[in-house]
Amino acid sequence: WTDGTLEEAENSMAELAALAETAGSEVLDGVIQRRDKPDAATYIGSGKAKELRDIVASTGADTVVCDGELTPGQLIQLEDVVKVKVVDRTALILDIFAQHAKSREGKAQVSLAQMQYMLPRLRGWGQSLSRQMGGGGSGSSGGGMATRGPGETKIETDRRRIREKMAKLRKEIAEMKKGRDTKRQERKRHQVPSVAIAGYTNAGKSSLLNRLTGAGVLVENALFATLDPTVRRAQTPSGRVYTLADTVGFVRHLPHHLVEAFRSTMEEVADADLILHVVDGSHPEPETQLAAVREVIVSVEAQNVPEIVVINKADAADPHVLQRLLRREPHAIVVSARSGTGIDELLKLIDDELPRPAIELHVLVPYTRG
Ligand code: GDP
Repeated sequence: WTDGTLEEAENSMAELAALAETAGSEVLDGVIQRRDKPDAATYIGSGKAKELRDIVASTGADTVVCDGELTPGQLIQLEDVVKVKVVDRTALILDIFAQHAKSREGKAQVSLAQMQYMLPRLRGWGQSLSRQMGGGGSGSSGGGMATRGPGETKIETDRRRIREKMAKLRKEIAEMKKGRDTKRQERKRHQVPSVAIAGYTNAGKSSLLNRLTGAGVLVENALFATLDPTVRRAQTPSGRVYTLADTVGFVRHLPHHLVEAFRSTMEEVADADLILHVVDGSHPEPETQLAAVREVIVSVEAQNVPEIVVINKADAADPHVLQRLLRREPHAIVVSARSGTGIDELLKLIDDELPRPAIELHVLVPYTRG
């Protein structure tokens, strides 16, 4: 469903399809419904829902993904019509984040956001809680359901259990954040400059991180040994040491409570000495992604941190798109994390942009007697 132009809807749908593929799905077909507002019952309206049911039947799809956030009621009613699982954009994004979270804190943040999303959507019948939670996820303590309290329905028990888990997770996250702050301060005190890699999901942030740290010397020492796996130590060609932190990929229309949940990794961005803003040069419209990421950078008050725009995937990019992008971002650098093109140049740029260590000046004042 959309209330915007057809073009906007098509772009958003193309992104949704890419997201679904990132999550490991095969996308079979798409339907756009234009209305002033979503249908209260089935989100897309009963006529369109029936059309969708036929598409599902003829393609053999096992899931319908909606571009937006559906109310719990809409989700159930649409599922009743199309007879397969219905997932909305929020759930899909949560799923991708769950697959990509690497650090303990990141995983905890995703679990928390998933539970927050799940809480009002629990159904009182059918699937067990663990199946509805998508399996895996957070390390559940002890098998089976908690015993039901007196007069409590199954759904109430489930809700209570989830709330308890959420409270526990929040506490754990607060603890982990303390540890991270300490480490960050320690790095600051040792004057290790930090570089944060930001960018849209799938822009090639992890690939670039691997490229950059692979090119430098990886030396473990006490200061870095216990760091989050997504913060790595790297070295510029001139031998200066810095940290390189990967961040969660941005997505347009990031659900609001997710923005809150992921503020922790965004903090790395606001705190960094330099942002490597990675853009997927092979995308037909990288400008929209660039703008979306800039918006998030401003929202975490990181707009004053120096930024290098890194246009990645040069090997797969359309030269016209690259030219257009370079006219808009004349200081950007074009690289390919895959082939290594432009990486040496980028390393030099990083070297130039990193803050110089403060130099203590000892001034000898000549002094004459008399
Ligand atoms: P992230 O989500 O931003 O961390 O992106 P990844 O590093 O996981 O990369 C996303 C996809 O883009 C992967 O399939 C990579 O293999 C691919 N990729 C990354 N860098 C390049 C590149 O320079 N050229 C091409 N053609 N593909 C790339």
